[in-house]
Amino acid sequence: MPVLHITTSGFVEKTVDVPETGCTIGRAWDNVITFNDEDVSAYHAALYCDGGGFFIEDRNSTNGTYLNHIKINRSPVQGGDVISICRNTIRFESFCAKEGADDENVAKVLTEADRHLMHGRWDSAESAVQKALLMEQGNSQALQLQDRIARKKNMYRKLESLVVPGKKDTLSIVGPDDFVSLNAAPFEIRFHISRDAHLIKEIFKTLKRAYDLVGRHLEVYPERVEVEVYTSQEELQGVTGLNGCAAPDWAAGMCDEKIRINTDDDTLREPQFLYLMLTHEYVHYAVRHMTGGKCPLWLEEGIAQVETQNAPAGTEELLQRALDNDAFLPLEILQHDFSALEYAELIDFAYVEAYSIVTFLLQRYSWSGIRAVLGAFGSGEEVPGALGRVHLSCEELEQAWKEWLPHHCCR
Ligand SMILES: [Zn+2]
Repeated sequence: MPVLHITTSGFVEKTVDVPETGCTIGRAWDNVITFNDEDVSAYHAALYCDGGGFFIEDRNSTNGTYLNHIKINRSPVQGGDVISICRNTIRFESFCAKEGADDENVAKVLTEADRHLMHGRWDSAESAVQKALLMEQGNSQALQLQDRIARKKNMYRKLESLVVPGKKDTLSIVGPDDFVSLNAAPFEIRFHISRDAHLIKEIFKTLKRAYDLVGRHLEVYPERVEVEVYTSQEELQGVTGLNGCAAPDWAAGMCDEKIRINTDDDTLREPQFLYLMLTHEYVHYAVRHMTGGKCPLWLEEGIAQVETQNAPAGTEELLQRALDNDAFLPLEILQHDFSALEYAELIDFAYVEAYSIVTFLLQRYSWSGIRAVLGAFGSGEEVPGALGRVHLSCEELEQAWKEWLPHHCCR
């Protein structure tokens, strides 16, 4: 056990063992350590053990408790620390060498500290590190860990500004890789603890905008929207690769059962980019929510592009060329994954076609027509049944669109 060297009013010195449960310090007779000193409060402070480490805590004393000459309310103590209470000092000494220096034990305590740290249990992690330091003063691994705890705790504190007081929002560590989750219904945003709170706030605000916009058009309001924010393209691709469908290397975002985006903190310099990406991916999310994933990709992709008013590059020229040559991609082959198309040019054109057909549908049938078609997919209809809601067959839709095209899209 640690021992305390007590100096009373500068001259009487004694050494006591610290009871395992800690001890109380004050002027009153029933304290474990008493100082017969008018300036000391009756119940001045307490030294106690928590999670394996020792802490000194001031008990609302009149003249305060100082640790290494700094006034504290509560602070961990370690070997060599000096606690001052008025004119009295208590030097806290860690375990004596005989009991300490048990490498295996220190290692075990540090492993425990590491585990606490991984799950964001800062206080327990700190206590365990203190315990290790008591066992072996200056243990370098423990000191490094102490540093890491302080750093992460600090990052987490900054992120706490994301939680709006009075709302049901929560911030929690969802380890084990220092991932934090912001729950602000309906959004659940998962990101690394090192991210800038300001960026996450922008992401949240932008998603809320997309949620309301898409909600007005499609009348869909999912109760839960899961979002993961990555720090690099490799990370995004790594995660999506595990799911069997890696994001293409040009995509900053994608949507499977979650919205997954890759942003660096520079994204804030281009809020428009963040808006386009998040809204686009959120449309995918909302449409899948509405249709149980049964919506053909050309329609889903088209809605995502139209909703962001973001025509693919070169739309006009590509459509003009397709008209000139009467060369279009049949909708049938655009039901699923565009990247299954053989050439990059075809993939690009698939996006153009999806954009243009949905523009046509929207002009002719407005959002209510699109909602009716999506609703039909949601209740299990196939393409003919769903397009039937706007009185079209697949061929009729392609025909009507091609007739509309020269007047609306091209010169
Ligand atoms: Zn898309």
